[in-house]
Amino acid sequence: MLVVMQAHATAEDIRRVCDKIEALGYRAHSIPGAERTAIGITGNKGEVEPGTLEEMPGVQEVIKVTKPYKLVSRDMKEENTVISFPGTDATFGGPGLAVVAGPCAIESREQAFSIAERVERAGAQFFRGGAYKPRTSPYSFQGLGEEALKIMAEVRQHFGLKIVTEAIDHESLELVAEYADVIQIGARNMQNFSLLKKAGRTRKPVLLKRGMSATLEEFLMAAEYVMSEGNYQVILCERGVRTFADHTRNTLDLSLIPAVQRLSHLPIIVDPSHGTGKRNKVTPMSRAAVAVGGDGLIIEVHCDPDKALSDGMQSLYPDQFDELMAQVRQIASVVGRMVPRIGARTAAGTVSDRH
Ligand code: PEP
Ligand code: MN
Repeated sequence: MLVVMQAHATAEDIRRVCDKIEALGYRAHSIPGAERTAIGITGNKGEVEPGTLEEMPGVQEVIKVTKPYKLVSRDMKEENTVISFPGTDATFGGPGLAVVAGPCAIESREQAFSIAERVERAGAQFFRGGAYKPRTSPYSFQGLGEEALKIMAEVRQHFGLKIVTEAIDHESLELVAEYADVIQIGARNMQNFSLLKKAGRTRKPVLLKRGMSATLEEFLMAAEYVMSEGNYQVILCERGVRTFADHTRNTLDLSLIPAVQRLSHLPIIVDPSHGTGKRNKVTPMSRAAVAVGGDGLIIEVHCDPDKALSDGMQSLYPDQFDELMAQVRQIASVVGRMVPRIGARTAAGTVSDRH
């Protein structure tokens, strides 16, 4: 159920409706929109008796939400969710595109700094890098753990880039939530429901990757898990799905972008690195991702991909990332978007003006 408040409803009206919902034993999710606030009701097994709520001051109507996902849905919030980062111009879901770039895994301070320096100069606002890697083989590099998180905190301090990194389990999530600006939940964990709920109890934005064989509905339900715990800052990410195609590592399903945008107000970005698994396909698919209306990109970049400890084959050289950014900026302008600068201060205390 969804309580739609009148445009002129007061904060007090909204609070009273939330209190009433909670008193009935349900959970109230008050989500303000441009014109009105909607209050989602979760935790109910069946239908909530609308009568009592309908009569309360400031209530316009009580609507039954028929879709299995509620908080994620455009029924709940018509306009796009914009996730912003105070002190910067970067957003997910705003008119500006979000660009997240960096290595698959943090391997050393030197490796991270040399890549960060290049991606920041090229115009990325976010730095990615795995501290905890979900690897197919237990013998592959598993990540540097907290040491990598510390390196990324230094990267943020030095370059002003915001940090995106993956949590693979409950233990790592606690540390990631402490250090990162955005918590990534990987494809392999898209239906790790207890991890989703734990991420939902943090107040950091969550970058949720689509599972390798997840349907659109399963993907949105995973986002609903995070939101149902009260964290409304969810960013979806298409990263390719398993198909019979063997010319790429995964099949990047770009048709998901407009499909999600019809149903949900959440921002959605594209990962053409894991989506193709091949360096030479990352830039063309990035152009397509922006053209189709994606809210941003997440790209793997490495200064020496041949020696990378993970995903070297799909990592761009920094020069290729420069070229990608130049092309993305052109496509962005065609679809009415742009790539904002991070706008953060450098360690020296001056606004970066190298762009
Ligand atoms: C990654 O971003 O490095 C990663 C492991 O991604 P995914 O979960 O999409 O495979
Ligand atoms: Mn990777």
